[in-house]
Amino acid sequence: MELNTRAVHAGREDLTELGLHAVPIDLSTTYPSRDSHEEASRLERAASGEDLGGSPIYGRVGNPTVARFERALADLEGAESAVAFATGMAALSACLLAVAAQGKRHIVAVRPLYGTSDHLLGSGLLGTDVTWSTAEDVKLHLRDETGLVIVESPANPTLSEVDIRAIDVDVPVLVDNTFATPVLQRPIELGANIVLHSATKYLGGHGDVLGGVVACDEEFARRLRTIRMATGGILHPLAGYLLLRGLSTLPIRITRAAETAAELARRLESHPGVSKVYRPEIGGPMVSFDVVGDPHAVIAAVRLVTPAVSLGSVDTLIQHPGSLSHHIVAEDDRRGAGISDRLLRMSVGLEDVEDLWADLDQALS
Ligand SMILES: *Cc1c(COP(=O)(O)O)cnc(C)c1O
Repeated sequence: MELNTRAVHAGREDLTELGLHAVPIDLSTTYPSRDSHEEASRLERAASGEDLGGSPIYGRVGNPTVARFERALADLEGAESAVAFATGMAALSACLLAVAAQGKRHIVAVRPLYGTSDHLLGSGLLGTDVTWSTAEDVKLHLRDETGLVIVESPANPTLSEVDIRAIDVDVPVLVDNTFATPVLQRPIELGANIVLHSATKYLGGHGDVLGGVVACDEEFARRLRTIRMATGGILHPLAGYLLLRGLSTLPIRITRAAETAAELARRLESHPGVSKVYRPEIGGPMVSFDVVGDPHAVIAAVRLVTPAVSLGSVDTLIQHPGSLSHHIVAEDDRRGAGISDRLLRMSVGLEDVEDLWADLDQALS
């Protein structure tokens, strides 16, 4: 079936059999059983990363509501499995720990990345070591102990794109697909192995839920579940519910916001207060632009557009990456990644284009 249909129905296949319409939210922290022999063997299977389904023994091991979201997202990304985490950063941390646990502590990554992802890799907080590369040169930096190649496309905040197909290496390629969503880009179809989302953004879509998810093959998913069980970064069931609900409107939200973003980008191109507009070739609801004047003044002047970090909500959000999303990246590295101090990043929402333009125009003037 087509993506629009799967977005509405994936993860909900059994609801009619259950006599339910809305997805049940299972808030259990523990799951009773009178058979402790059976529980012991199930716990061993869980510790080796198996998805137990049904009754997951304990809430840190798995959750039926979260599992529905995982099935749906795996389906939309064309992946065998998906594993959900409390945040996007918890998801990225689990990926790094999973490769480091196998002695593969070296990562090759392409800038720009989301500011905190850049920081996590650059600081070596999890004991990994990064080599920054261009997308074209990734192969040149691979070593025996390289565990992952990490790219973001379109990248945060410049919306620069990587030719995912062209990264033809023997090391697993992780694509942060947060900005594209499976509506615009399915990296596994393009040859990537691991797809990461900050589900906090478009998948949730309403600015009211934190989450992260990794879509991958079942072998890597097992490693991630082992890490998740031991380190405790699982998604909350209520968040699982909200994210699954978010998926059902994802295609329509992305398509509509992308149309508005394209029109705003067109108008920004010829605005005297704007010196450069950044748009990804695949389209989508993100627009970044360099302003001629003081970017802080624009942030202070918007009235309809929400001046806030994050993205992917139903309302339009604008932020100054140099102050917020990429403030944690050293100034030189930021400039090297093409992030100018006059850059503003805007996540276009579902408001009427004329109302948005009126607000942007007055803020820029
Ligand atoms: C926000 C974001 C993250 C981090 O996700 P959290 O849910 O905030 O932890 C990672 N990658 C990208 C591209 C992001 O925009």
